[in-house]
Amino acid sequence: MNAVAVIRPRSLAEWLEREVGAEVKRDEPLAPWCTVRVGGSAALLLRPRTPQTLVTALGLARDEGAPVSILGLGANTLVGDLGVPGLTVKLPASTFGEEVALDEAGGTFTLSAGASIARLVTLMKQYQLVGAEFLAGVPGTIGGAVTMNAGTKHGEAMSRVVAVEVATVDGVGWIAPPPHRYRHTEVPPGAVITRAKFRLPTGDVEASQAAMDADLGYRKRTQPLSQPNFGSVFTNPPGHAAGALIERTGLKGHTIGGAQISTLHANWIVNLGAATAFDVTSLMALAQQRVREQLGVELTPEVKRIGVFR
Ligand SMILES: Cc1cc2nc3c(=O)[nH]c(=O)nc-3n(C[C@H](O)[C@H](O)[C@H](O)COP(=O)(O)OP(=O)(O)OC[C@H]3O[C@@H](n4cnc5c(N)ncnc54)[C@H](O)[C@@H]3O)c2cc1C
Repeated sequence: MNAVAVIRPRSLAEWLEREVGAEVKRDEPLAPWCTVRVGGSAALLLRPRTPQTLVTALGLARDEGAPVSILGLGANTLVGDLGVPGLTVKLPASTFGEEVALDEAGGTFTLSAGASIARLVTLMKQYQLVGAEFLAGVPGTIGGAVTMNAGTKHGEAMSRVVAVEVATVDGVGWIAPPPHRYRHTEVPPGAVITRAKFRLPTGDVEASQAAMDADLGYRKRTQPLSQPNFGSVFTNPPGHAAGALIERTGLKGHTIGGAQISTLHANWIVNLGAATAFDVTSLMALAQQRVREQLGVELTPEVKRIGVFR
């Protein structure tokens, strides 16, 4: 009997390159894909154009034991200098569809995880709704906003989320908003957020615009927005502001290699031009040590790390 040739992908990399109508890159530098502009390359960067591609890739990665990392806009991510092994998934803005449903009390917006946070704010303004003002100046994607429960003292993303769609090796489906707290959402292990549904009410649109204008003005005055950075480095410990604690230890402006504790805001690290992830993590460790030893407070990083660090 003749053997029947079953054509199976030999590896995740082979399948991605040969079979898939997806954008796949090998050894893709990730620094340009992160706002702080440091770090090494992704072994495989996948930008899936269909939900099925994503689900299949997750399955192959699991079968091969390949780690999976997810990148949104990289506005809160530090990539290791030695690169990211396995599969790095970065969803294009429109892989998953957008939907708008309006009623008398407000609107429900279903947004693709790869779409920008700014898209939600644009829709809010377009349909004369309120309730997402606190996201107006936050760079990132919808997936990143949900995962990080992004926000400010005026509100947080998950307070507006009514459902989350996730992709796993088993397929794509909607789940109830996962448990969340300050700057953290319990995304199910192994899941990639593909869409989120936000509910925004009607309200005082003039007050809404005024709140956004005030917030953006405050950001311009207090944050080093002209230099590459990843926003707040540490979460605020209960009862404290991380920036004020670091400033009290005298580290404002302190530089290691190409990374500097911002002269404008001590809870921000900026890339002066040629910073490495090693420079950034060295500064972070120094700030934690000084604040612990001098002020007795433990600083917890807000920034997420992916890849291999020196
Ligand atoms: C100038 C500046 C200002 C900022 N101001 C604020 C602020 O006021 N408030 C605030 O909360 N944050 C702020 N940040 C941080 C950042 O904007 C937010 O954390 C934002 O939500 C990150 O989104 P992102 O798409 O860039 O996420 P990324 O940095 O790409 O990813 C963050 C985490 O989310 C995960 N993730 C991303 N997408 C998905 C997905 N689809 N499925 C599963 N996991 C995913 C990543 O794996 C990673 O763990 C600021 C950053 C900058 C640079």
